[in-house]
Amino acid sequence: MTDDSTTTLSLDEVRGLARSVFVAAGVDEHGSAVLADLVRMSERDGPRSHGLRMLPVYAQSFASGYANPAANPSVERIAPGVLRGDGDNGYYQIVAAKARNELIEMARENGVAAFSCANCHHLGALRFDTGSLAEAGLVALGVVNSLSMVVPQGGVRPVFGTNPMSFACPRPGGEPVVWDQASSMVALMDIRMAAAEGHDLPRPAGLDPEGQPTRDPNAILETRSLLPFGEHKGAAIAFLIEVLGAALAGGTLSVDNAKREAHGALNIKGGNTLIAIDPARFGNEAFGEYVQRICGEIEGNGDARVPGDGRLKNRAAAEADGVSVTAELMAQLRELQ
Ligand code: NDP
Repeated sequence: MTDDSTTTLSLDEVRGLARSVFVAAGVDEHGSAVLADLVRMSERDGPRSHGLRMLPVYAQSFASGYANPAANPSVERIAPGVLRGDGDNGYYQIVAAKARNELIEMARENGVAAFSCANCHHLGALRFDTGSLAEAGLVALGVVNSLSMVVPQGGVRPVFGTNPMSFACPRPGGEPVVWDQASSMVALMDIRMAAAEGHDLPRPAGLDPEGQPTRDPNAILETRSLLPFGEHKGAAIAFLIEVLGAALAGGTLSVDNAKREAHGALNIKGGNTLIAIDPARFGNEAFGEYVQRICGEIEGNGDARVPGDGRLKNRAAAEADGVSVTAELMAQLRELQ
């Protein structure tokens, strides 16, 4: 018999629960606090698939020896505008927390600065990486490559990961504009959900075993070959992310990430690059007014909304009412504490 009851947790309870899972997995107090905060923000703003539901994946990666819970990451300034990180086989967010203030200072000094990081695992939504720079008044662009699942336009086998990118900029008088999006037409999670619910996808989103585009989620799960968003244009963005992420950072190429299977691990080790731009150093004093104007042209324009603003609605609801967690997930998490 399945228990389909749910529990409501406040965001502080989410953070506390996540923290205790990381501590139990052997991560130190500081690292546990950083990762637990990422889980809390994912539950608060979305995507919730990167929140509490991801904790068993972190725990499995540590327990199998794929990721290092006792990582001692390093950050080094190797050029006036370049900060390089080595995650010591731990999680990216812990290195990023170490690099963030220096990256902000460098961008303010040079106008542009970048943080590139390898030897790290990344399981988060990129929006929190770029969003924190926009809160400091900077424009940010972040990328990470992942596990090859996206075929180049016209190709028959995957080359790119679902390679997401994120953009953020300050918005005078409001929360920063922050969006992030994968390079695949449809997220793998949505394909799994359509298969579980027994219906086709609204449009072809991957290849069948004969190499033909299909709407059948089971055929796509068999080939693990997803189509890029926007045909050749999305494939070109996935290419850019593979280069700015894996190649620039010296991280693992998406086609080489199958190595994780030896550990039975689910998380992915790619390469990340985060570019920070200080608009105040570009000479247009009206930068903020331009952003306001662009947003103003979108708001009230039919059903359009500024990209990423959906998260603010999620945030308000989660802060007021907490988040609901299934009994099955709660039981799983209690075992990990
Ligand atoms: P979505 O397609 O759901 O959303 C992409 C972006 O568009 C979001 O910022 C979303 O923000 C915004 N958006 C959605 N609908 C609209 C709309 N109608 N008008 C304006 N803006 C809209 O996301 P993806 O499936 O592409 O990616 C999901 C998440 O997974 C991302 O957070 C990504 O970083 C993460 N990811 C991480 C990977 C990793 O290896 N770490 C790999 C792949 C993905 P909002 O709805 O809040 O407005």
